[in-house]
Amino acid sequence: MTAIIEPTTTTDPGTTETFESLNPANGDVVGVHPVASKEDVDAAVARAREASAWWRELGFEGRQELLMQWKGVITRRMAQLADLVHLETGKPHGDAQLEIALAIDHLNWAAKHAKKVLGRHKVSSGLLMANQASYVQYQPLGVIGVIGPWNYPVFTPMGSIVYALSAGNTVVFKPSEYTPGVGRWLAESFAEVVHGRPVLQTVTGLGETGNALCLADIDKLAFTGSGRTGKKVMAACATNLTPVIIEAGGKDVLIVDEDADLAAAADAAIWSGMANAGQTCIGTERVYVHEKVFDPFMKELTDQVQQVRAGDDATASFGPITMPSQIDIIKSHLDDAVAKGANVVIGGPEAVGERFVQPTILSHVPEDSTEMTEETFGPTLAVNPVKTMEEAVERTNATAYGLAGAVFSKKNGMAIAERIRSGMTSINAVTAFAGVPSLPFGGVGESGFGRIHGPDGLKEFTYAKAITRQKYKPLLALTTFARDAKTDKRAATLINLMHGGKSTLPKK
Ligand code: NAD
Repeated sequence: MTAIIEPTTTTDPGTTETFESLNPANGDVVGVHPVASKEDVDAAVARAREASAWWRELGFEGRQELLMQWKGVITRRMAQLADLVHLETGKPHGDAQLEIALAIDHLNWAAKHAKKVLGRHKVSSGLLMANQASYVQYQPLGVIGVIGPWNYPVFTPMGSIVYALSAGNTVVFKPSEYTPGVGRWLAESFAEVVHGRPVLQTVTGLGETGNALCLADIDKLAFTGSGRTGKKVMAACATNLTPVIIEAGGKDVLIVDEDADLAAAADAAIWSGMANAGQTCIGTERVYVHEKVFDPFMKELTDQVQQVRAGDDATASFGPITMPSQIDIIKSHLDDAVAKGANVVIGGPEAVGERFVQPTILSHVPEDSTEMTEETFGPTLAVNPVKTMEEAVERTNATAYGLAGAVFSKKNGMAIAERIRSGMTSINAVTAFAGVPSLPFGGVGESGFGRIHGPDGLKEFTYAKAITRQKYKPLLALTTFARDAKTDKRAATLINLMHGGKSTLPKK
């Protein structure tokens, strides 16, 4: 259980095909990685299967001890990992550090709470079965496949990885082809703590490697990425009836009520819409503002956004667009909005460069433009006035997505939040739920299904096991062919007493 530094081979050494990960700010090669073939993936899953009995048998305490050691390694080397995240995604070092810090906190929570959430619990047996003692416990599934995106290459996959590991599963992780170095770093640092046991392995490659993982002998697949790929993942997993979790995209809204703190709401909209160049699944893309405060809110927004800029230098607020193909999508959404009559407040289609997109704010954006209906994944905000909070909620919910969102309101925050059809909402803050390890994380509709984080996230990687133990012979022996008419009559009387209640129907 001591830390031994030794490189891990997370992809079969026989693999010859490779691919490069590039720095999106300048195109420089950051690293060269193997393309794991179907055979490589199957071999990794077979190794994970072998290691899973050992990992499961360690029990909650044994696993917690090792996971805490891993937590220490990641924490002490946070700057090194943040450098790698910065190089592969282009995001500022401070943002990379923030996502790592949140992932560390989740690791800590998952490992420490696994026993309490998943361990054996006694439950009430009820009057009918009073002679039984009843228990429920949550057993690990075995081997979990995790497929991750590039936008938060530590925080996002770790939301599945650390909960799956804490629950007693082994994991084979396929990171995005844009951030393979980060994926390998995670498995290699883990292997320094859990030496010689392939409990967490990384297989690198493109979509085909991900497809091979879906088809491999795994017990569940946790996917985070676009809805488009999520559908392919589900179809592939259906081949072996492998269950899936889908964490897909969003079109999140920030609602501003008439009594909101407008400066705080503007700050939050800009940060959640533009940090990481707007490439955040739970980032704000649409803003609905009560018409009574629309003008002062827009003034706040335009004043504050002056301080924000894309760039590659240390003082830039956010970096480049990580995936070059996204540039065309951002441009097409802005073009569509402007062609349909949107008002350009800041930036606009001209703000879209070759690698960087400068802050863009549009207002009065037609609801049928792609800027309002599809995930833009760029540093853009579409801000529209609404007459009432009912209208704000209605427009918010008029989307196929349902991931997250925020409400700024002094009096009615909770009432508005409860009516938004999404997995997560923050009141008077943005994305706060992601930093609370005890809260579930996930969406509805096209944003996917299943939950990571919190007790629900631990249970996602288990199956519920029910056990009863007979304490004494039943007063009414119902499950035997020796049951007689007298017993049936007593059973009917008992059920009547328990559930018949007093009739409120008119007597016939
Ligand atoms: P993507 O769908 O392009 O890729 C995600 C992963 O799937 C990558 O590792 C990729 O190699 C793999 N993949 C591609 N084709 C595959 C196939 N046929 N079978 C199996 N795997 C395959 O997504 P992306 O561009 O990496 O990530 C951005 C998207 O992720 C956005 O839509 C964003 O909203 C979403 N996202 C969602 C969450 C969330 O928690 N809901 C978090 C982060 C990102």
